[in-house]
Amino acid sequence: MGGRRWTKKEDDALFDGIGVFSIPWFQRKAGKSYDYPHAPLRSRKAIYSRAARRLGTGSLTRGTHTLIAAARETGYSRGQIQRAQSALNQKWKRLSTRGPYLITFDQLDEIIGWLRQDYWCMKLHLYGCVNCGDKQRPSAGMGLCQWCYRRLRGLLRRLDLPTQPKKILILMQSMDEPPLEMRAFVQRAKADLGRGWSLDEKQIRTLAAMLGK
Ligand SMILES: [Zn+2]
Repeated sequence: MGGRRWTKKEDDALFDGIGVFSIPWFQRKAGKSYDYPHAPLRSRKAIYSRAARRLGTGSLTRGTHTLIAAARETGYSRGQIQRAQSALNQKWKRLSTRGPYLITFDQLDEIIGWLRQDYWCMKLHLYGCVNCGDKQRPSAGMGLCQWCYRRLRGLLRRLDLPTQPKKILILMQSMDEPPLEMRAFVQRAKADLGRGWSLDEKQIRTLAAMLGK
């Protein structure tokens, strides 16, 4: 090795910063590798190996989640988490310029709190109208905004289909096994209806066509 020993102060900085700060931060805190005026900063590798020796492998990322892990653990999509990040103005750390973003527990707590409040329709866990995506107009039920609610109910009646998601689901469950190319559509529509969501206009028209209406 031959480099300068890590002082207690440097080790303390390393310990305090675990899970919070990036490698450049450690480099500023840890000082130089050798005892001469223009000595280089401690290398990335030196910081990793010191952290591993003192605090165990993986310690620099301890207390953090990657975006993928955060999405898996919270059930929110990556897009939703990124939307919350930008709304909350959070800065996520990264151990290298191309490394994954690391979200601390505190940041993730804040994100979950924000996303919880962010639902446009709390009851159905929706971020906007299922038909048009609008989130300004009030929710009128079945995951639809007032405008779409009126329109789609009218459309369902004209097509002689039930208006309640549950009744449409029962109707779909009674249908024959769909042709192969329609299976994905049917599966998705049943899942949406099962959550109490309305079908969107395109789904309603596809269903009507399948039923020969
Ligand atoms: Zn709408």
